[in-house]
Amino acid sequence: MSQKMLSEAEGYDMLRKYDLPVPEYQIVKSGEDAAHACEKMGCPVVMKIISPQIVHKSDAGGVIVGIGSRKAALSAFTKIIDGAKAYDPAAQIEGIMVEQQAEPGLELIIGGKTDPAFGKVITFGMGGTMVELMKDVTLRILPVTEDEIRQMIREIDAYPLITGYRGSKPRDEEELVKIIGNICRFFMENENVVEFDINPLRLYEKGACAVDARIIVTDKVQTTETKEERTPVPMEYFNPRSIAVIGASQESTKMGYAVLHNLLHFPGQLYPVNNKRSEIQGLKAYPTITAIPAPVDLAVITVPAIHVPRVVEECGQKGVPMVVIITAGFKEMGDDGKALEDRVKAIAKGHGTRIIGPNCLGIIVPPRGIDTTYVHQSPRPGNIAFISQSGAIINTVVDLSLAQGIGFSNVISVGNQADLDFLDYIRYVGKDEKTKAIILYIEQITDGKGFMEVVSEVAKTKPVVAIKSGSSKKGEHAASSHTGSLSGSYDVYMEAFRKSGVIAVHTLTGAFLAAQMLAHPKGFPKGKRAVVITNAGGFAVLSSDYAERYGVEIADLPREVIEELNEFLPDFWNKGNPIDLLGDATDKRFEKTFEVLARHPEFWDMAFIVGFPNLVLTSENLAKKILNFSAMTNNRLIATLLGGDSMNPGRELLKENMIPGFEELDFTFRVMGRVLWQKFRVKAPGLL
Ligand code: ADP
Ligand code: MG
Repeated sequence: MSQKMLSEAEGYDMLRKYDLPVPEYQIVKSGEDAAHACEKMGCPVVMKIISPQIVHKSDAGGVIVGIGSRKAALSAFTKIIDGAKAYDPAAQIEGIMVEQQAEPGLELIIGGKTDPAFGKVITFGMGGTMVELMKDVTLRILPVTEDEIRQMIREIDAYPLITGYRGSKPRDEEELVKIIGNICRFFMENENVVEFDINPLRLYEKGACAVDARIIVTDKVQTTETKEERTPVPMEYFNPRSIAVIGASQESTKMGYAVLHNLLHFPGQLYPVNNKRSEIQGLKAYPTITAIPAPVDLAVITVPAIHVPRVVEECGQKGVPMVVIITAGFKEMGDDGKALEDRVKAIAKGHGTRIIGPNCLGIIVPPRGIDTTYVHQSPRPGNIAFISQSGAIINTVVDLSLAQGIGFSNVISVGNQADLDFLDYIRYVGKDEKTKAIILYIEQITDGKGFMEVVSEVAKTKPVVAIKSGSSKKGEHAASSHTGSLSGSYDVYMEAFRKSGVIAVHTLTGAFLAAQMLAHPKGFPKGKRAVVITNAGGFAVLSSDYAERYGVEIADLPREVIEELNEFLPDFWNKGNPIDLLGDATDKRFEKTFEVLARHPEFWDMAFIVGFPNLVLTSENLAKKILNFSAMTNNRLIATLLGGDSMNPGRELLKENMIPGFEELDFTFRVMGRVLWQKFRVKAPGLL
């Protein structure tokens, strides 16, 4: 596959077809012609080098603006040629472009690139020669709607420069919307265009003009490969009645020991398979899977890679519907491993046997006593599904969850995804009744569009939180366009998540907090307006600080709400939001306040209840009132019971009833800010 950059002139011609305003130009080969063109076009003009090797023309002294005379054109010609030769003696100079000089305007960039996973992406932001310095850009995955284009424009920090800042007149935003729309169409329709920059596009009070265009085309258009039709995995495959462990072992240092050991609690039939022993860990062992006298619903394979094809063949003969291949040494090891994996795949396919892995930990389904992994200790049952591309992260998360009292509905290690892939697992946990929230640990997705389709559907009914590794720019290859260097693949993932309803987080703790925040049946808050109710003045102030920082709006209290509160709150209460119930607030005072808010649910979307322990208020009593409040309203409640162990009874009670509770106020708002980022595109600095 070879890529090449079109000349600026070719770029202009292409864009003109999509109604993009570009300057008149003429290509010249001599100073005399340049002078002539200048006179013909009308001064002033701009002259630019044309060379396939010179990508950033200004860097080579290849752009001269404000050429106002015949004489200036003559001297500009030699200056540009000499400059270019000095910059890169090997550069082929194809000529010089003389173009009309556009009026100064607000310089913007519109760019496009092709992401390996998610396809064509459009970027927009502040342009000019300082784009990389400003880094004020936003992006969307194509196709986009007009609404999304408008949102994109409003999203950049410099948006006030478009609407008119400090006395300057507003710019032609409508024209900009139209231009971006046309450029999206240009990018979608021209399959051979893989990347481009229009920088700058000058935006005026009326109209606009593009004064540079860099378009990269490929001679090999990636045809969207027709995907193999795949039958979905039946749900009951994850609910086996009998499990065989092939390679089960009696030696505690072997993988086959740990796997069998973790399955000893499985309430169904468990069969160790080992051709050297008749009994393993107290269970009768069989020499091969075919020797087992009853059906096997799931086989866990731990034998060395070289034996896996034979074992999978036997599983197929036995009619095992699904196997977990824990063994490593396949695709991840290079070409030979890949060939072995393909062989295993083909054998399984021939028998209609589905594969989890290879090179994975397999699955843990705590509510069903299934654990095919070799984790140190099986996690507790709960309502979170965790799907991971890293086995090591699973070990860590399971260990942490035990310490923190977090339970799982499913823990899945996807491994090489030879057959079942991320999407199959997301579909499965999406349908799984025990799962109330989903956490994904993602390293790389190959089928980005498929991912977005599946996850958007699941995210409609269950919160999906994702951690994507690889946010550092290191390792991404150097880009030939501004667009390429301004937005990396991580940014595209973030946009894909946001578009699909997935909450992106950066830490494991953040993932669990966000999942906890949303696992409640009420799901997302319907807006971003909050009330804060507290008995601590200090925390009232901090709540306002955090809310502002993380993009939560503190709602104004309507007149009638203040009046109703006046009836029972001390005269000197603050009469505003956050509502400070004062240090002597009893649970009764909280309750009455909750009742007022429940009667007026229309001015707020979520309530943060911030309580600290004292002699007139126990955490348990406060928690009970919070539960009553939750039953009275459809709005979301978030409880922050601040303090030490004395708050635990209240926290426990809230947790049992799925009211999210946090022990740190900053985190409470930060988590909500992240949730709002997903839903309402809140731009909050707080990483979670
Ligand atoms: P580069 O390859 O360095 O990006 P450009 O073609 O963008 O070269 O030119 C550099 C700068 O010169 C632009 O950012 C713009 O400010 C100015 N410029 C270029 N062409 C014109 C033009 N036709 N009218 C007015 N200014 C121009
Ligand atoms: Mg430019």
